[in-house]
Amino acid sequence: MIVPSSLQTTDAVRRDLVPAGDYYMKVVKQGQTMRILDVEGNQAADTLFYNANDPSERYSAIDTIREQGNVYLSTGTKLLSDVGNVMLEIVADTCGRHDTLGGACATESNTVRYSLDKKCMHACRDSWLLAVTENEQFGMNKRDITHNINFFMNVPITETGGLTFEDGISGAGKYVELKAHMDVIVLLSNCPQLNNPCNAYNPTPVEVLVWDQ
Ligand SMILES: [Zn+2]
Repeated sequence: MIVPSSLQTTDAVRRDLVPAGDYYMKVVKQGQTMRILDVEGNQAADTLFYNANDPSERYSAIDTIREQGNVYLSTGTKLLSDVGNVMLEIVADTCGRHDTLGGACATESNTVRYSLDKKCMHACRDSWLLAVTENEQFGMNKRDITHNINFFMNVPITETGGLTFEDGISGAGKYVELKAHMDVIVLLSNCPQLNNPCNAYNPTPVEVLVWDQ
């Protein structure tokens, strides 16, 4: 559901531009609101969330889908953890649909889906692994990389129950906004994928903004 935000960018307490192929790994505190802004349009932001006080509790696609009875995420969706706690809630959304079924790109899946010579291409999973390695303060490693949300990504379910990666429905300046119900670690890979239309074959920056309200 399309619901614009009433927050002003001039009131944001933090703004970070995340270049295509780079990652963002920071804590958003309980009560803060974060916005992911699709700066140039049609860009997937592959994101994981963890309880900042106990990262073994993390976002669960399965629990979130089951409890809301909908596979697509938008305004009103409560993002649940693997023990059923509300981690964040989508409070504004000008894109209207976000995926949590398609998973993230990896060098391995690139070889299976496209061709063996795609093995060397940069992928979201590489960015996440780099992030947990470069941010030792969170005490996380490879085993903490689990299911994720693909903000702005259009992955419709076909009539036969399959998934397709379709051209995006997001555009320049569209955003999704989430209110944190607990202190969360946000681990976002700004997807570098060049083999399918999830980034319009042209990965571009996203911006992460945070408000104290
Ligand atoms: Zn990706």
